[in-house]
Amino acid sequence: RRAKFAEMRDAPAITKDGVRIELMVNAGLRDDVGALDVTGADGIGLFRTEFQFLVSATMPQRERQQRLYRDVMDAAGDRPVIFRTLDIGGDKALPYLHHDDDMVEENPAMGWRAVRLSLERDGLMKAQARALLEAAAGRTLHVMFPMISEPWEFDVARALFEHQRQWLIERRKMLPSSIRYGAMLEVPALAEVLDILLPKLDFLSIGTNDLTQFLFAADRAHPKLAERYDWLSVAILRFLNRIARACEAAAVPVGVCGEMGGRTLEAMALIGLGIRRLSITPASVGPVKAMIRSLEAVPLSTAVQTMLVSPPESMRKALIAYAQQASV
Ligand code: PEP
Ligand code: MG
Repeated sequence: RRAKFAEMRDAPAITKDGVRIELMVNAGLRDDVGALDVTGADGIGLFRTEFQFLVSATMPQRERQQRLYRDVMDAAGDRPVIFRTLDIGGDKALPYLHHDDDMVEENPAMGWRAVRLSLERDGLMKAQARALLEAAAGRTLHVMFPMISEPWEFDVARALFEHQRQWLIERRKMLPSSIRYGAMLEVPALAEVLDILLPKLDFLSIGTNDLTQFLFAADRAHPKLAERYDWLSVAILRFLNRIARACEAAAVPVGVCGEMGGRTLEAMALIGLGIRRLSITPASVGPVKAMIRSLEAVPLSTAVQTMLVSPPESMRKALIAYAQQASV
């Protein structure tokens, strides 16, 4: 099977009825970028910039950040790289970043993290924005913000980047040829305000790891809960379906970058919901591409939508049965 996946490396991720799926990989360190060539993925759909911070004993200065981002884009060549701004705080604490008042958080996943922290400690975000803007000189910069809970947070984060861009213009520095701004949807409340949010965005990326944890109120790292709630539950699939429909109506590209998309059956369900971009762990690219190339997207979509209207007792079993009879 391994040989079969290797052979498929250069084949496009396209269904039997001609629907092209963008298959991207999640990455975080310089060495992860090699996965692009090994897997034949279409790009990096989630670059977790906090990894550089987590593996450093001291705060990585702007120049070091910039060097990493430039190396990653150089290695990716024509393939897009979506950089996510820092998702630190909470359980990804940095020893060298101190809270003002030695605050102890009882629920760090729901705490002072990601964009919440970045907007308050905006020196961090400004340095990162400068590093990304300068590293992407002459190319398209894709940037997205984690844990957006309300549309204004996206506005402020984007404005911070635009302010830095202006600063570089005034100093006649070379700029990215274009910038695409996106938000991550991992906080359920954001789904209720998509009519306000989507017109602001160039793309949306659904983080199903955090989204599932918040939808089910179940800690994603809890050993007793991690496997308890199924990604193929009716609640999750209906929720994702709503988001996919809203993005389709607003013509905003939407992808999934949580671990869900790396499992073949889950990936099939996502394609059935109309998701056309998956960013997954590199080891999953081969199996997911094989699934896609044996799939017909149109009948799958009809089947999944029917299941969501009157759900079978087990969505998972029904999807397995679908895959078997359709020889996926
Ligand atoms: C997610 O929450 O689904 C996600 C992709 O981000 P992370 O796993 O880094 O929190
Ligand atoms: Mg997340």
